[in-house]
Amino acid sequence: MSHTKNVPFMDLVSPHRELKVELTSVFQKALDTAGFVGGPMVEGFESEFASFCETKECVGISSGTDAVRFALMAAGVQPGDIVVTVPYTFIATTEAITQAGARPDFVDIDEHTYCMDPEKLREYFVKECYVERETGTAFHRKLQAPVTAVVPVHLYGQTADMDAILEVAHRYNLIVVEDACQAHGAEYFSEKENCWKRAGSMGHAAAFSFYPGKNLGACGEGGAVTTNDKEIARKIRMLRDHGQSQKYYHDLEGYNGRLDAIQAGILSVKLRHLAEWNQSRREAAEQYKKLFDSYPRQVILPHQPEWAKSVYHLYAVRVQNRDEVQKHLSSQGIGTGIHYPIPLHLQKAYQEFGYKGGDFPLAEQVASEIISLPMFPHLTAEQQSRVVQAVLDAVSARAIQ
Ligand SMILES: *Cc1c(COP(=O)(O)O)cnc(C)c1O
Repeated sequence: MSHTKNVPFMDLVSPHRELKVELTSVFQKALDTAGFVGGPMVEGFESEFASFCETKECVGISSGTDAVRFALMAAGVQPGDIVVTVPYTFIATTEAITQAGARPDFVDIDEHTYCMDPEKLREYFVKECYVERETGTAFHRKLQAPVTAVVPVHLYGQTADMDAILEVAHRYNLIVVEDACQAHGAEYFSEKENCWKRAGSMGHAAAFSFYPGKNLGACGEGGAVTTNDKEIARKIRMLRDHGQSQKYYHDLEGYNGRLDAIQAGILSVKLRHLAEWNQSRREAAEQYKKLFDSYPRQVILPHQPEWAKSVYHLYAVRVQNRDEVQKHLSSQGIGTGIHYPIPLHLQKAYQEFGYKGGDFPLAEQVASEIISLPMFPHLTAEQQSRVVQAVLDAVSARAIQ
């Protein structure tokens, strides 16, 4: 049984095996009723996920990428606008911005949380933009375009510092769309409102992905937008369905971007277990912290500020000799991932924008040191000990600064 010593990066088999009967009955129901697109399974899931996120509305979408795009469009981003986000995220964030007709631009991340640094966002407006008197809109001097929205990304399952970001957004009249694609159930303590808020409930709208590997994953593709704004929700319902307000009455040209019924039914079943799975991930994170704690100088662990309750979509640590560590773990049968090796501003896809190395130094440094260790609800303490031992065997004796 030598294979039992292997530790996979994630385990998508066990949760589905445990729920097999319930999940199969979703297919059965869809087959019996031929309810494949729209209908009660989609509406049921939308209302359950809205309550989970503590929002008034949820609209099921075909993917997280389209959820970001539709949220931006419905909230009012216009072709030619600039939308600010971070360079340290999955490219879907900026694809959605571009596909909404806007141009992405970046501010660097916070060195501890790896999420948007609100201070850098503020500086961006102070140093690179001016505010048009009549409209109050921020205008980018060099790019000669209005900056109308910001997309904070709740990376690895932990929210960005939303109070501070919302304050800048308020000052500059910005639309705020949370990219919550990695943060189902994450919480943020808002000083301003003096309460814990759910990821997805803080911006004008928020996007979630149900890609299989996410904390809440479909058995296929899926996504959703959450919002407290009825008008945004109404527009998104049109955008996802060919711009129809009723069948064959097209108020605008839209997209085929619906969440399908079988995926919605599956998500309803899995949503009932999400709180417990997130709790297991938190316990696994605690366990990693305990195991690594005697070696604070070789491995930088995830930092959770007191205002955050992470759901640990990923457990990413920083080491100085990342590639060697990854190779060693792989030789020990331990799966890892790099999220993300190249920040977006240095990707070939964005060459035309003319960014260069050094533009966003923290994103660049973190990208060169980060490695995601196995993290999933069914991870055992014994597997974690193996992972930690292997990491410690491989980290360079030199301490990371
Ligand atoms: C997964 C992900 C997306 C895109 O979701 P899809 O459902 O794969 O389209 C967007 N942003 C972030 C940060 C993600 O991790």
